[in-house]
Amino acid sequence: ATPTALLVGTGRGAQLGILIKGPEVLESTRRVDTVVLDKTGTVTEGRMSVVDVVVEEGTDAAELVRLAGATEHASEHPIARAIAAFGRVVPELVEGPSAQAPWVPDASTGSAAQGWVPVEGFQNIEGRGVTGIVDGHAVLVGRHSLLEDWSIHPSPALLAAKAAAESAGQTAVLVAWDGASRGLIVVADQVKATSAEAVASFRALGLTPVLLTGDNEAAARHIAAQVGIDEVIAEVLPAEKVAVVHRLQAEGRVVAMVGDGVNDAPALAQADLGMAMGTGTDAAIEASDITLVRGDLRAASDAIRLSRRTLGTIK
Ligand code: ADP
Ligand code: MG
Repeated sequence: ATPTALLVGTGRGAQLGILIKGPEVLESTRRVDTVVLDKTGTVTEGRMSVVDVVVEEGTDAAELVRLAGATEHASEHPIARAIAAFGRVVPELVEGPSAQAPWVPDASTGSAAQGWVPVEGFQNIEGRGVTGIVDGHAVLVGRHSLLEDWSIHPSPALLAAKAAAESAGQTAVLVAWDGASRGLIVVADQVKATSAEAVASFRALGLTPVLLTGDNEAAARHIAAQVGIDEVIAEVLPAEKVAVVHRLQAEGRVVAMVGDGVNDAPALAQADLGMAMGTGTDAAIEASDITLVRGDLRAASDAIRLSRRTLGTIK
């Protein structure tokens, strides 16, 4: 490989919105056979919004949104942002329970919210949910397993609603307080318009796409099917993403990983080729060999095609 040809390759990359850390990156890019894709923020937009609220018998939906919103307000997670933003459009949810249950967001309801009731003892449980005390209630918002740890059991009807949302590709988080299951909040994200085309380009290059996520299996499968991915690794805790990349490498695969989150950084560093969404976190960008400036997944296949072409002209 002559340095000049490699530099021409990296220069062309910059024009395509692909920032390559150094010419040596192109060499590992060429050998890649598997592309691991983070789901939220990489394949999907990563901007979640609340689409439904389901309550256990006897629970007021407005009260559920109020307590869950006050707890999630302290978190930066996309699910938390969706729930906090949802409560904010209906001021009475923030200030106190209302007579009706206005869980359909309506930005026209008037004045901005005064702010959430403060949460005490807030705890973020990585990849599982959040807890805190709001108005004297011990609130939990998160996965089923988080509630189980506290011996809280959602009703069969609530779990059925959860399963239905998940099989439609949505994410349902359970809400409990004072030791009882109270309901759930369904959030949805959108697949990026360019993701399916990007996956098709990976396949055209002979690469196997794999979807990796902390989200539930059913939602992950639904999103995977929408973009043309067969291999799904779901319900992976943030700290375990790196081990998944390591395991694929141990199977003899040469792995490219594309991600955007702080959680993805160790996996991006472990991959033979790490690619970060330019729209993502600094941690992901720093851990990566390549930055896809516009956050468009098609740039990931462009990068691999470019490096093959560049090195191909050299050999
Ligand atoms: P992803 O890999 O899609 O970014 P995470 O690993 O961050 O997902 O989270 C995995 C799952 O943990 C979520 O789908 C959700 O069920 C639960 N979870 C994580 N953070 C929160 C939160 N702040 N509120 C509610 N649930 C959460
Ligand atoms: Mg992500």
